[in-house]
Amino acid sequence: MKYFGCLVFLFIIFSCGSTKVMQVQTPVPAPPVVADIEKPLVPKNIILLIGDGMGLSQVSSCYFFGNDAEPNFNRFPVIGLINTTSADAEITDSAAGATAFAAGIKTYNGAISKNVAKKNVETIVEHIENKSISTGLVATSQITHATPACFYAHNESRNNQEDIAEQLTNSSIDFFAGGGIKYFTSREDEKNLLPALKQNGFVIDTGKVDLSKNLNLNKKYGCLLADNGMPSKLDGRGDFLPNATKQALSYLSQQSGGFFLMVEGSQIDWEGHAASIEGTVLEMQDFDKTLKVALDFAEKDGNTLVVVTADHETGGFSLKPALDETGERYDYTKVVGGFYEGAKETPSAAHTATLVPVFAYGPMAEKFGGIYENTEIYNKILEAANW
Ligand code: MG
Ligand code: ZN
Repeated sequence: MKYFGCLVFLFIIFSCGSTKVMQVQTPVPAPPVVADIEKPLVPKNIILLIGDGMGLSQVSSCYFFGNDAEPNFNRFPVIGLINTTSADAEITDSAAGATAFAAGIKTYNGAISKNVAKKNVETIVEHIENKSISTGLVATSQITHATPACFYAHNESRNNQEDIAEQLTNSSIDFFAGGGIKYFTSREDEKNLLPALKQNGFVIDTGKVDLSKNLNLNKKYGCLLADNGMPSKLDGRGDFLPNATKQALSYLSQQSGGFFLMVEGSQIDWEGHAASIEGTVLEMQDFDKTLKVALDFAEKDGNTLVVVTADHETGGFSLKPALDETGERYDYTKVVGGFYEGAKETPSAAHTATLVPVFAYGPMAEKFGGIYENTEIYNKILEAANW
């Protein structure tokens, strides 16, 4: 018993000692909180909004005209500028401008996702089509017009809108909304592409954007709501652009693999060509209202990167002091819009070379700050989303 008692005593001492040693040798590891915070969030969804012809003065018009609400442009924490020059001209057109965004290359004016050698270049939509990422396009022009076309078609000329319509019919786009029915139904080759669209899984609506309708992810949707472009805001387009964007987001966000949505305020450019100050202001307000839809979605979702930019500026638009009653002096208390003389004389030559703004919100938004080439928009989107 005496020996046993000693052994128990020694055992207790030894155990306590060894426990202490063990504690020193294997400290409880700190939770890996720091590593988690440092890991950058990769956005699952991308919304690219293009204001065709939207220079800084067009953006600024939202701050001087119209409603009293703060412009939604205020909600972007990151701002950049891009050079829009194309491969063959200092001043780009919308086709070369959109090819830069859709395919990441500089090309000749008029090209729809073709390079200067007139070879097809892979578009962002083609790049992600096998990654179970859904894709959508919304425009106030015809959906076959240069800007949206560059995301799903390849053509030597933007003018071949019937060819482009056929390429949309056979594309992997999941949702589209805009005008341009006639390129599908009243064609020179007398084909009607609506049955072909249906065969390719599309439900086609030619009435209006119906926000009460629940869109099923197992189907694809196309809204063709005008023969050519949609009406202008001046001609009573109403809320087509914000509403179609809202519908596209409610449909595309059902997809667990993420989505890419391109939304174009097409007619900012058209009002610039028409040298219409009132039209420009209204199209910009409509675009700003559409930004609200995109930003509200991204804010709630937390995993969506919103990028806003322009293919070029149109009209040399400016915000200048108004003339006073005498017509001889300027009144610096009052701002009016104006276009450069050349744009008014030759509407087809209204585009200008000025750098245009980029706005970004959401995960990886910081990538879009700085001054760079328009082709970088494509590279930055792919890098940001890890696509
Ligand atoms: Mg356009
Ligand atoms: Zn234009």
